[in-house]
Amino acid sequence: MTNVPTLPLGSYQIPIVGIGTLTVTDEDALEKMLNTALEAGYRHFDTAYLYRNEHLIGKVLNKWFTSGKVKREDIFITTKLPGEGIYPEGVEKFLKESLAALQLDYVDLYLVHSPIRIKPLNGKGFEAAEGLPTDHIGVWRELEKQVKAGRAKTIGVSNFNQRQVERLLKVAEIKPVCNQIELNVYLPQPQFVEFLQANGIVVVSYFSLGNPGVREQRVESGWWPAGVPDMLTDTTINRIAVRHNRTPAQILLKSLVQKKIVVIPKSVTPSRIRENLQLFDFNLDAEDVEAIAGIAIGEKARLSQIKRLQDHPEYPHPVVEA
Ligand code: NDP
Repeated sequence: MTNVPTLPLGSYQIPIVGIGTLTVTDEDALEKMLNTALEAGYRHFDTAYLYRNEHLIGKVLNKWFTSGKVKREDIFITTKLPGEGIYPEGVEKFLKESLAALQLDYVDLYLVHSPIRIKPLNGKGFEAAEGLPTDHIGVWRELEKQVKAGRAKTIGVSNFNQRQVERLLKVAEIKPVCNQIELNVYLPQPQFVEFLQANGIVVVSYFSLGNPGVREQRVESGWWPAGVPDMLTDTTINRIAVRHNRTPAQILLKSLVQKKIVVIPKSVTPSRIRENLQLFDFNLDAEDVEAIAGIAIGEKARLSQIKRLQDHPEYPHPVVEA
């Protein structure tokens, strides 16, 4: 079993590799995925109110806790305040709902899922929802109360840009310790990462592998940004993988982990779940790091464009870099 290194998260610790759970809502698939992950050594699980699987994760974890195989304090759980709950009174309400579903007294990290409050989804999905003005500071004050009430050990944000993070840093009594953002070798955002890390904010990458599960279907529907290839078949990544006798996914993940960026790749495939954790017995050298920096595409490679929200006052998500 792999012992996953941790990074300081304020005065707390976060395992540098976790497992994402977006799109896994089938009970059997989720149970198999979590069992495999726990047996392999994963102790960090990323979910969200929006993913509609907190209750299933709660069930599986509860089995592990009651069997005595792991203790609550050995597990790191992140969940997120959904877009529809991003207003001050929504914070406690939605966090309590998440805790009840997860069968937990506290989460290790509670994130504001996006800088944009949206109208209730009514099952119609995120992309179809309309944005509303969002009181970031009022919402943050309520998150601070959740830490004081013991419902969240640490608090942070997701999909916030630099301006939005700076605004919080100015007023926060309890500082945000994390920004979970889309980040990978094609969209590395070096200046933003530097800014966040210099301010003691841990960067958690999503789409570290370029979200390959939906690529084919999105390329067909014309949704995929033009000119953004599949990073798992990138020739530079594959050359480095061969040199280290690793898989392309391991190189993509290691390139982030080596920069003290947390990764949370999702997989329901047992061999991949295990593979994604085997990152701690090799290092990329300066030549590899330089070659990987050379394949960056930048903002054009951003996959999480939220359609119909682009006129919202809190948009754009991206930080414009020189
Ligand atoms: P990823 O880039 O992590 O890709 C996941 C896909 O990669 C799955 O289809 C999986 O397939 C495949 N995969 C996993 N490991 C390997 C491997 N070793 N080799 C080849 N293919 C592999 O995207 P995600 O969408 O899962 O993002 C990661 C997590 O980030 C999410 O699950 C979620 O928890 C979080 N997230 C947060 C967002 C936010 O707004 N804060 C937005 C989006 C995601 P398979 O399962 O079939 O093995």
